[in-house]
Amino acid sequence: MKIEMVDLKREYRNLKAELLPAVEEVMESAAFIKGPAVDRFSRNVETLLDVPHHIPCANGTDALKLSLMALGIKPGDEVITTPFTFVATAEVIAFFGAVPVFTDIQPDTLLMDPARLEEAITPRTKAIIPVHLFGQMADMDAVMAIAVKHGLKVVEDTAQAFYASRNGKYAGTVGDIGTISYFPSKNLGAYGDAGGLLCSDDDLAQKITMIANHGQKKKYEHHLIGVNSRLDTMQAAILDVKLKYIKEWSEKRLAAAKKYMERLSPAVQLPVIDQGNVHVFHQFTIQHDRRDDLKDFLETKGVPSAVHYPIPLHRQPGFTSLCRIVSASLSEKAADRVLSLPISPWITDEEIDYVCEQVNTFVNNA
Ligand SMILES: *Cc1c(COP(=O)(O)O)cnc(C)c1O
Repeated sequence: MKIEMVDLKREYRNLKAELLPAVEEVMESAAFIKGPAVDRFSRNVETLLDVPHHIPCANGTDALKLSLMALGIKPGDEVITTPFTFVATAEVIAFFGAVPVFTDIQPDTLLMDPARLEEAITPRTKAIIPVHLFGQMADMDAVMAIAVKHGLKVVEDTAQAFYASRNGKYAGTVGDIGTISYFPSKNLGAYGDAGGLLCSDDDLAQKITMIANHGQKKKYEHHLIGVNSRLDTMQAAILDVKLKYIKEWSEKRLAAAKKYMERLSPAVQLPVIDQGNVHVFHQFTIQHDRRDDLKDFLETKGVPSAVHYPIPLHRQPGFTSLCRIVSASLSEKAADRVLSLPISPWITDEEIDYVCEQVNTFVNNA
């Protein structure tokens, strides 16, 4: 059996009949930048996620960067996040000369632990970036309560959690800004780089829109220093086709995760769905003490797996000298134990069975 980590080829075969005409329409119109599909897609995201503003941009890292620009993050400011995330979350903080301050995760959900957040706050703290890791939301009620109490801004890194929700609110719509990545393997993926921001505040949304387009309100009138970070019309057209399926795909991911949880041996530490969360399982990530051996064993059986993430960011050579660590021991432990198994809306029952059989063979004999 040949299993893919994320089966994008299967996805394309299923959607080809809808995607090709959408792309052809863009080609025929030659409106490659700011074509009608860009606005159409944004309005459809706003309706789906019940949020006033979706601002498209070039990728998920830019979405984070644009957020910190719009919030006026300056050299010497501190921004709190967890070290157990993809590098982009903290990279953008350092990019502005601000200090990434690392606070630890919860050992079961692997999400920012709000109980450890307050001890990270200093007079220099400006913002918090909770990461909705692997497809479920961090405890936003607790994070927002602390942010409001201390006058801090909150940027939700929603790259892995498009359409996830918590207590009836969608990921990215609770904090000041939510940032999305439409990287091809994300739950809603373009066929190239793409990103977006969610925002409820009209003035902040306008500022972000201007910054993403050279600081201009009108053509050749530059009110702010901005950048060029746009969503291509072609990618918007592809995303708009795929957006119609996000509910169905999210349900399929959840169903696949539940099958994994039923079939995997109790010797494996399973992912935990936090109370109030609708999880969209961007990754299905288990934990085991002999993670590296398990990964090697699976590879010999034709089962791909991935380590998200092997080195917590405070241990990365590029970060050690410029970050501040408040707490990180649980992130370190997780980095040694996590293993993501194949999951996508296209994974079959037989594939899940085969993966479970192999994992169970290893862990039951370990
Ligand atoms: C993918 C990802 C990003 C960056 O998105 P790109 O579109 O690749 O720039 C940021 N944060 C997290 C948590 C991610 O998983």
